[in-house]
Amino acid sequence: MTATLSRQSSATTVRSHGNGHVPNGALDFAAALQDELQRRIAGEVRFDPVSRMLYSTDASNYQIDPVGVVIPASRDDVLATIEIAARHGIPLLPRGGGSSLSGQTVGAALVIDFSKALSKVLEIDLEGGVVTVEPGINIDALNRQLKPDGVMFGPDPASANRATAGGVVGNNSTGSHSILYGMTGDNVRAVTAATVDGAVLDLGPLASSALARPAIAAGAMGPRSRTAPSTVAAVTACTLSPVMP
Ligand SMILES: Cc1cc2nc3c(=O)[nH]c(=O)nc-3n(C[C@H](O)[C@H](O)[C@H](O)COP(=O)(O)OP(=O)(O)OC[C@H]3O[C@@H](n4cnc5c(N)ncnc54)[C@H](O)[C@@H]3O)c2cc1C
Repeated sequence: MTATLSRQSSATTVRSHGNGHVPNGALDFAAALQDELQRRIAGEVRFDPVSRMLYSTDASNYQIDPVGVVIPASRDDVLATIEIAARHGIPLLPRGGGSSLSGQTVGAALVIDFSKALSKVLEIDLEGGVVTVEPGINIDALNRQLKPDGVMFGPDPASANRATAGGVVGNNSTGSHSILYGMTGDNVRAVTAATVDGAVLDLGPLASSALARPAIAAGAMGPRSRTAPSTVAAVTACTLSPVMP
């Protein structure tokens, strides 16, 4: 999902023109953004031409240079990246395995790659029938960790050796067993999502009594969202309902 921030992005100015010329102002801007990200986050900040080229494609036919790439080491890094991007008016583009087929993970934006470091199982709760994971975990890797407990994540996209939890949630992915287990949306119990204005929302099922409340009926998303809903910038954790194969 792409969170487009309110102010007009300077992202496109960072790209070179057809003649290879990059305006000096754009270079200064990118350097300032890179510098601030490097000072604030523990993970990787990549604005070099090779990294931007590598992240300019996914499994689709599209190719667009990103402004730069952040590989967060923690959720705090994600939140800091969102805050900095919002302040600079830069669009954000979360990325998992990059196996999307319609250009979902390419754009003139600051890419956040969750697949390298935010890829852990946080909790397996067999009694509650849920497993909570970081969004960058690969689906095959998740299923290998669940196998000793005799359960698996039901939807099985053919790209499961590349696809991540955040990516399948973002795309509502399916697989050959979806006729049995449903689509990803049928197998997600809750997500934790960071918004562009710095909030962290726990989004999950609501009791029917809560659904009847006017604020909810009018579109507010959950207990922490008592005011106008904001735009989700990234999912930072997913609680999935594994199935018994
Ligand atoms: C060979 C091949 C086979 C495929 N087979 C199938 C199939 O059987 N079924 C199917 O449904 N699809 C299939 N796909 C498409 C694609 O692989 C799936 O949709 C897959 O689930 C995408 O996962 P990903 O981690 O690569 O996501 P990405 O491509 O990285 O991202 C997908 C979307 O999720 C968003 N996103 C990623 N992480 C986050 C996050 N932390 N927070 C918020 N948003 C996030 C991205 O911005 C993007 O919009 C296939 C693709 C290929 C190349």
